[in-house]
Amino acid sequence: MTTNKIINIGINYETIYRNVKYPRLEFKTGSLILILPKKYKNEEKLIRKHETWILRKKSFILEALKNSENKKLIMNVNQKEFEKLVKSKIEELLKEEKEKISKIFFKKMKSKWASCSSKGNITINSFLKYLPKNLIEYVLYHELIHLKEKKHNENFWRLISRKYTNYEEMEKDLFIYWFLIQKQVLKQSLL
Ligand SMILES: [Zn+2]
Repeated sequence: MTTNKIINIGINYETIYRNVKYPRLEFKTGSLILILPKKYKNEEKLIRKHETWILRKKSFILEALKNSENKKLIMNVNQKEFEKLVKSKIEELLKEEKEKISKIFFKKMKSKWASCSSKGNITINSFLKYLPKNLIEYVLYHELIHLKEKKHNENFWRLISRKYTNYEEMEKDLFIYWFLIQKQVLKQSLL
């Protein structure tokens, strides 16, 4: 992995060479990562092609960073209590949505709040416990809706908006809290 700088738009990025067919740009954890096929040579061209997208993402991230100053993580949350809360909320939502799952797992994850497997296993990021209750509930609902719709498509957001008309705001808040986790928790190397 190497770190470079796009001079004209002042942004750092990392390149990772992987066994992939096509190059890919990612902003998952707040910094730009170029996933490139091995021996890929058109890095500069790729960046130029996606400059608008990069700049749009960058300003979104900068805004989230600024907003993160007004938000605080809820520390001193007991893991057992958190798991109890999550399990009972999931049970409640499953009844409401007439859905079933297999198992719930808790794990510290670096790139997502939760995930839902095709076997109906739900994995919850343990870092979620540092977030306000309304956001925890939103993440659980979001994940359970993936039982009905895997992709983040129109149908998915339509289902989400039955309960959360303000889902865009919730997603934005989650992104802001992601920064707080990175800043406060990861730096204390609690991971
Ligand atoms: Zn999702």
